[in-house]
Amino acid sequence: MSPLSSLQSSDAPSVSFEFFPPKTEAMAARLWETVERLEPMAPNFVSVTYGAGGSTRERTHDTVRRIAQDTHLRPAGHLTCVGATKEEVLSVAEDYWQAGVKHIVALRGDPPAGMGEKFEQHPGGFRDSIDLIEGIREHRPDLGRCFEISVSCYPELHPESRGWDAEIAFLKAKQDAGADRAITQFFFEPEIYLNFLEKARAGGVTMPIVPGIMLQPNFKGLKRISGLCGSSLPGWLHELYDGLDEDTETRELVTANVAADLCRKLSDEGVRDFHFYTLNRAGLALSTCRLLGLKPNSAEAA
Ligand code: FAD
Repeated sequence: MSPLSSLQSSDAPSVSFEFFPPKTEAMAARLWETVERLEPMAPNFVSVTYGAGGSTRERTHDTVRRIAQDTHLRPAGHLTCVGATKEEVLSVAEDYWQAGVKHIVALRGDPPAGMGEKFEQHPGGFRDSIDLIEGIREHRPDLGRCFEISVSCYPELHPESRGWDAEIAFLKAKQDAGADRAITQFFFEPEIYLNFLEKARAGGVTMPIVPGIMLQPNFKGLKRISGLCGSSLPGWLHELYDGLDEDTETRELVTANVAADLCRKLSDEGVRDFHFYTLNRAGLALSTCRLLGLKPNSAEAA
């Protein structure tokens, strides 16, 4: 069986978009404009992140709920184990269900002290993403079975990884606990994803593994997070952004082209599902979709 065969659903590309909850009114205005402009792309789902340390709990929840109420989109709420008891985390899941949100991205989360610090389980909290998935599935078996659950995965290994065998076994354990789909950390070389996919399939992971495509035109910011989250930035990417620190417009064009080129190469290998880290910017996501051949109407028709 080809490693890709279980994630091919149809020939048309299918996209999903990740947003973050806004902190200010200006950021909220940009988010809702982004949501409105991306809705006609008929994404498979859209997700809303949960701030490090659980810091955005209310804002994440409000954003997800509003998407569910005011749009035709299918929102997913990110949920982490950080800084909360099991009961508190499960009550957020319960609230999502009541608000018509049927999809959760279940994560352990970064330590409250920040990426790179040691993760300490909250007393009375979930241990990791597997414990969280099991908690959601067991809490209310009637709801648990119905929730769609996505999880993270790391094609270049998580910084806390114990090696490839443990990494793949851990992803398989997420699937066995009830995950329906894995979304990758961002990467820039197609081979990184394809090699990971092959390892995951060989390790018995059969759920879709959707590539996470980064749309960050701020290269300085990208360098900062990539060092912490274990994603490599190839030399050619440094070259492309070299000297563009003060030139936002060109950096955005470069970003959309890099993302589209990566998607096209993955598409040539049979990948059909793409998850975009939009950073709440509609233009970059829209142009990347266009370059991939997706238009609002054709997306609806597909
Ligand atoms: P897990 O997958 O549970 O564990 C992380 C890694 O630790 C594993 O990959 C593995 O290498 C190792 N590990 C842990 N336990 C074991 C074990 N028993 N055996 C072997 N290996 C083990 N962070 C946020 O704060 N909010 C968000 O909304 C958010 N959204 C994200 C969305 C995606 C798609 C991705 C890829 C990441 C996201 N993150 C988010 C970042 C994530 O919280 C961090 O990477 C965090 O450090 C790990 O959380 P996780 O759920 O990936 O952890």
